[in-house]
Amino acid sequence: MENAVVRGSIRCGEIQMPYLLVRKPVKNINIHVRTDGTAVVSAAEWVPAAEVEHILQKKSRFLLSARERIKQCAVLQPPVHQYESGEQFRVLGQMLTLQVQTGFPASVQRQGAALFLRVPAESTAKKRKAQMDRWLRDTCQAIFTQAALQAQDLLADRCLPQNITLRVRRMISRWGSCIPTKHVVTFSTHLLETPAFCVQAVVLHEYVHFLHPDHSRAFYAELERVIPDYRQQTQLLKSPAYAVFYNE
Ligand SMILES: [Zn+2]
Repeated sequence: MENAVVRGSIRCGEIQMPYLLVRKPVKNINIHVRTDGTAVVSAAEWVPAAEVEHILQKKSRFLLSARERIKQCAVLQPPVHQYESGEQFRVLGQMLTLQVQTGFPASVQRQGAALFLRVPAESTAKKRKAQMDRWLRDTCQAIFTQAALQAQDLLADRCLPQNITLRVRRMISRWGSCIPTKHVVTFSTHLLETPAFCVQAVVLHEYVHFLHPDHSRAFYAELERVIPDYRQQTQLLKSPAYAVFYNE
Protein backbone atom coordinates (compact mmCIF):
# COMPACT_ATOMS: atom_id res chain seq x y z
CA MET A 1 0.00 0.00 0.00
CA GLU A 2 1.27 3.46 -0.82
CA ASN A 3 1.84 5.95 2.00
CA ALA A 4 -0.68 8.77 2.25
CA VAL A 5 0.91 12.17 1.62
CA VAL A 6 -0.55 15.50 2.73
CA ARG A 7 0.85 18.85 1.59
CA GLY A 8 0.92 21.82 3.94
CA SER A 9 2.98 24.79 4.98
CA ILE A 10 4.00 26.50 8.18
CA ARG A 11 4.99 30.05 8.79
CA CYS A 12 8.64 30.58 9.86
CA GLY A 13 8.99 34.29 10.54
CA GLU A 14 8.65 35.98 7.14
CA ILE A 15 8.84 32.73 5.22
CA GLN A 16 6.14 30.27 4.35
CA MET A 17 7.80 26.88 4.50
CA PRO A 18 6.21 24.04 2.52
CA TYR A 19 6.11 20.56 4.00
CA LEU A 20 4.99 17.08 3.04
CA LEU A 21 3.41 14.90 5.67
CA VAL A 22 3.93 11.23 4.87
CA ARG A 23 1.83 8.79 6.84
CA LYS A 24 3.92 5.73 7.67
CA PRO A 25 3.87 3.16 10.47
CA VAL A 26 6.84 4.85 12.23
CA LYS A 27 7.45 5.08 15.95
CA ASN A 28 8.71 8.68 16.07
CA ILE A 29 8.01 11.77 14.04
CA ASN A 30 10.92 12.18 11.62
CA ILE A 31 11.76 15.39 9.79
CA HIS A 32 14.28 16.15 7.08
CA VAL A 33 14.71 18.95 4.56
CA ARG A 34 14.90 18.03 0.88
CA THR A 35 17.33 19.70 -1.52
CA ASP A 36 14.43 21.75 -2.96
CA GLY A 37 13.83 23.23 0.52
CA THR A 38 10.69 21.28 1.36
CA ALA A 39 10.48 19.74 4.82
CA VAL A 40 9.38 16.10 4.77
CA VAL A 41 7.76 14.75 7.91
CA SER A 42 6.89 11.14 8.49
CA ALA A 43 4.43 10.29 11.21
CA ALA A 44 2.12 7.42 12.11
CA GLU A 45 -1.53 7.60 11.09
CA TRP A 46 -2.69 8.16 14.66
CA VAL A 47 -0.66 11.38 15.20
CA PRO A 48 -3.06 14.33 14.69
CA ALA A 49 -2.09 16.76 11.90
CA ALA A 50 -2.24 19.63 14.39
CA GLU A 51 0.34 17.90 16.53
CA VAL A 52 2.65 17.51 13.49
CA GLU A 53 2.29 21.22 12.66
CA HIS A 54 2.99 22.11 16.28
CA ILE A 55 6.26 20.12 16.20
CA LEU A 56 7.25 21.69 12.85
CA GLN A 57 6.55 25.12 14.26
CA LYS A 58 8.71 24.38 17.28
CA LYS A 59 11.55 23.29 14.98
CA SER A 60 11.12 26.19 12.55
CA ARG A 61 14.50 27.76 13.36
CA PHE A 62 16.27 24.48 12.70
CA LEU A 63 14.30 24.01 9.48
CA LEU A 64 15.15 27.47 8.23
CA SER A 65 18.86 27.09 8.95
CA ALA A 66 18.87 23.64 7.27
CA ARG A 67 17.22 25.22 4.24
CA GLU A 68 19.79 28.02 4.19
CA ARG A 69 22.66 25.52 4.40
CA ILE A 70 21.25 23.50 1.51
CA LYS A 71 20.90 26.67 -0.58
CA GLN A 72 24.53 27.64 0.09
CA CYS A 73 25.81 24.15 -0.68
CA ALA A 74 24.06 24.26 -4.05
CA VAL A 75 26.07 27.41 -4.86
CA LEU A 76 29.26 25.78 -3.65
CA GLN A 77 29.06 22.62 -5.72
CA PRO A 78 32.57 21.98 -6.97
CA PRO A 79 32.98 22.42 -10.72
CA VAL A 80 32.38 19.24 -12.69
CA HIS A 81 35.33 18.71 -14.99
CA GLN A 82 35.50 16.63 -18.14
CA TYR A 83 39.19 17.53 -18.38
CA GLU A 84 38.80 19.21 -21.75
CA SER A 85 40.50 22.30 -23.20
CA GLY A 86 39.14 25.56 -21.87
CA GLU A 87 38.15 24.30 -18.40
CA GLN A 88 39.46 26.29 -15.45
CA PHE A 89 41.37 25.03 -12.43
CA ARG A 90 42.33 27.18 -9.48
CA VAL A 91 45.91 26.80 -8.30
CA LEU A 92 47.38 28.98 -5.53
CA GLY A 93 44.53 31.46 -5.95
CA GLN A 94 44.99 31.82 -9.69
CA MET A 95 42.65 30.52 -12.38
CA LEU A 96 44.51 28.37 -14.91
CA THR A 97 43.02 27.29 -18.23
CA LEU A 98 43.44 23.68 -19.29
CA GLN A 99 44.88 22.92 -22.74
CA VAL A 100 44.63 19.27 -23.71
CA GLN A 101 47.29 18.06 -26.14
CA THR A 102 47.91 14.68 -27.73
CA GLY A 103 51.26 13.08 -27.02
CA PHE A 104 53.32 10.58 -25.12
CA PRO A 105 54.25 10.19 -22.30
CA ALA A 106 51.25 11.67 -20.47
CA SER A 107 52.13 14.76 -18.44
CA VAL A 108 50.84 18.00 -16.96
CA GLN A 109 52.80 21.23 -17.13
CA ARG A 110 52.00 24.69 -15.98
CA GLN A 111 53.03 27.65 -18.13
CA GLY A 112 51.83 30.99 -16.86
CA ALA A 113 48.04 30.90 -16.72
CA ALA A 114 47.84 27.71 -18.83
CA LEU A 115 47.92 24.11 -17.71
CA PHE A 116 49.02 21.75 -20.49
CA LEU A 117 47.68 18.23 -20.15
CA ARG A 118 49.35 15.82 -22.57
CA VAL A 119 47.60 12.49 -23.08
CA PRO A 120 47.46 9.74 -25.73
CA ALA A 121 44.95 10.36 -28.54
CA GLU A 122 42.34 7.84 -27.40
CA SER A 123 42.31 8.96 -23.74
CA THR A 124 39.01 9.01 -21.86
CA ALA A 125 37.85 11.65 -19.36
CA LYS A 126 38.67 9.11 -16.62
CA LYS A 127 42.28 8.78 -17.82
CA ARG A 128 42.65 12.55 -18.16
CA LYS A 129 41.33 12.95 -14.62
CA ALA A 130 43.78 10.33 -13.32
CA GLN A 131 46.67 12.23 -14.91
CA MET A 132 45.48 15.54 -13.47
CA ASP A 133 44.95 14.00 -10.02
CA ARG A 134 48.50 12.66 -10.08
CA TRP A 135 49.82 16.11 -10.95
CA LEU A 136 47.64 17.68 -8.24
CA ARG A 137 48.99 15.33 -5.57
CA ASP A 138 52.63 15.81 -6.64
CA THR A 139 52.18 19.59 -6.72
CA CYS A 140 50.50 19.56 -3.30
CA GLN A 141 53.32 17.47 -1.88
CA ALA A 142 55.96 19.83 -3.31
CA ILE A 143 54.25 23.10 -2.32
CA PHE A 144 53.18 21.95 1.16
CA THR A 145 56.64 20.49 1.86
CA GLN A 146 58.18 23.83 0.97
CA ALA A 147 55.72 25.60 3.30
CA ALA A 148 56.54 23.03 6.01
CA LEU A 149 60.27 23.80 5.71
CA GLN A 150 59.46 27.46 6.12
CA ALA A 151 57.30 26.69 9.18
CA GLN A 152 60.18 24.71 10.68
CA ASP A 153 62.47 27.68 10.08
CA LEU A 154 60.03 30.08 11.71
CA LEU A 155 59.74 27.75 14.71
CA ALA A 156 63.47 26.92 14.79
CA ASP A 157 63.80 28.13 18.40
CA ARG A 158 61.02 25.80 19.55
CA CYS A 159 61.14 22.08 20.21
CA LEU A 160 59.41 20.50 17.23
CA PRO A 161 59.49 16.71 16.92
CA GLN A 162 62.00 15.10 14.58
CA ASN A 163 60.85 13.23 11.47
CA ILE A 164 57.48 14.80 10.87
CA THR A 165 55.46 12.98 8.20
CA LEU A 166 53.55 15.21 5.80
CA ARG A 167 50.54 13.65 4.11
CA VAL A 168 48.24 14.94 1.39
CA ARG A 169 44.67 13.74 1.25
CA ARG A 170 41.46 14.87 -0.33
CA MET A 171 39.53 16.34 2.61
CA ILE A 172 36.40 18.42 2.25
CA SER A 173 35.73 19.47 5.82
CA ARG A 174 39.13 20.81 6.88
CA TRP A 175 42.25 22.36 5.38
CA GLY A 176 44.66 20.44 7.53
CA SER A 177 45.10 18.33 10.63
CA CYS A 178 47.84 17.36 13.04
CA ILE A 179 48.36 14.28 15.21
CA PRO A 180 51.10 15.50 17.59
CA THR A 181 51.61 12.09 19.23
CA LYS A 182 52.28 10.43 15.86
CA HIS A 183 54.28 13.35 14.38
CA VAL A 184 51.91 13.48 11.39
CA VAL A 185 50.42 16.48 9.58
CA THR A 186 47.85 16.07 6.82
CA PHE A 187 46.73 18.69 4.32
CA SER A 188 43.76 18.74 2.00
CA THR A 189 44.39 18.79 -1.75
CA HIS A 190 41.87 21.68 -1.79
CA LEU A 191 44.42 23.82 0.05
CA LEU A 192 46.34 24.09 -3.23
CA GLU A 193 43.45 26.18 -4.60
CA THR A 194 44.17 28.96 -2.09
CA PRO A 195 46.84 31.69 -2.37
CA ALA A 196 50.36 30.90 -1.18
CA PHE A 197 50.00 33.02 1.99
CA CYS A 198 46.97 30.93 3.02
CA VAL A 199 48.92 27.72 2.42
CA GLN A 200 51.72 29.07 4.60
CA ALA A 201 49.32 30.10 7.38
CA VAL A 202 47.52 26.72 7.40
CA VAL A 203 50.79 24.77 7.41
CA LEU A 204 52.11 26.89 10.24
CA HIS A 205 48.84 26.42 12.16
CA GLU A 206 49.26 22.63 12.02
CA TYR A 207 52.94 22.85 13.00
CA VAL A 208 52.12 24.99 16.03
CA HIS A 209 49.85 22.12 17.13
CA PHE A 210 53.04 20.16 17.85
CA LEU A 211 53.68 22.73 20.59
CA HIS A 212 50.05 23.27 21.67
CA PRO A 213 47.62 20.50 20.65
CA ASP A 214 44.51 22.59 21.40
CA HIS A 215 43.31 26.02 20.25
CA SER A 216 44.25 27.66 23.53
CA ARG A 217 45.40 31.24 24.06
CA ALA A 218 48.99 29.96 24.14
CA PHE A 219 48.44 28.33 20.75
CA TYR A 220 47.31 31.60 19.12
CA ALA A 221 50.02 33.58 20.94
CA GLU A 222 52.64 31.30 19.41
CA LEU A 223 51.02 31.46 15.98
CA GLU A 224 50.83 35.25 16.05
CA ARG A 225 54.39 35.51 17.29
CA VAL A 226 55.56 34.09 13.96
CA ILE A 227 52.74 35.43 11.71
CA PRO A 228 51.45 38.59 13.45
CA ASP A 229 48.58 39.01 10.95
CA TYR A 230 47.58 35.34 11.03
CA ARG A 231 43.87 36.17 11.48
CA GLN A 232 43.75 38.52 8.48
CA GLN A 233 45.73 36.07 6.37
CA THR A 234 43.27 33.26 7.01
CA GLN A 235 40.14 35.40 6.62
CA LEU A 236 39.96 34.47 2.95
CA LEU A 237 39.66 30.77 3.83
CA LYS A 238 36.31 31.51 5.43
CA SER A 239 34.89 33.20 2.35
CA PRO A 240 32.40 31.26 0.20
CA ALA A 241 34.84 31.40 -2.72
CA TYR A 242 37.16 29.06 -0.86
CA ALA A 243 34.62 26.95 0.96
CA VAL A 244 35.67 23.33 1.01
CA PHE A 245 32.50 22.13 2.65
CA TYR A 246 31.24 20.99 -0.69
CA ASN A 247 27.96 19.14 -0.79
CA GLU A 248 29.46 15.85 -1.93
ZN1 LIG B 1 43.92 23.70 14.70
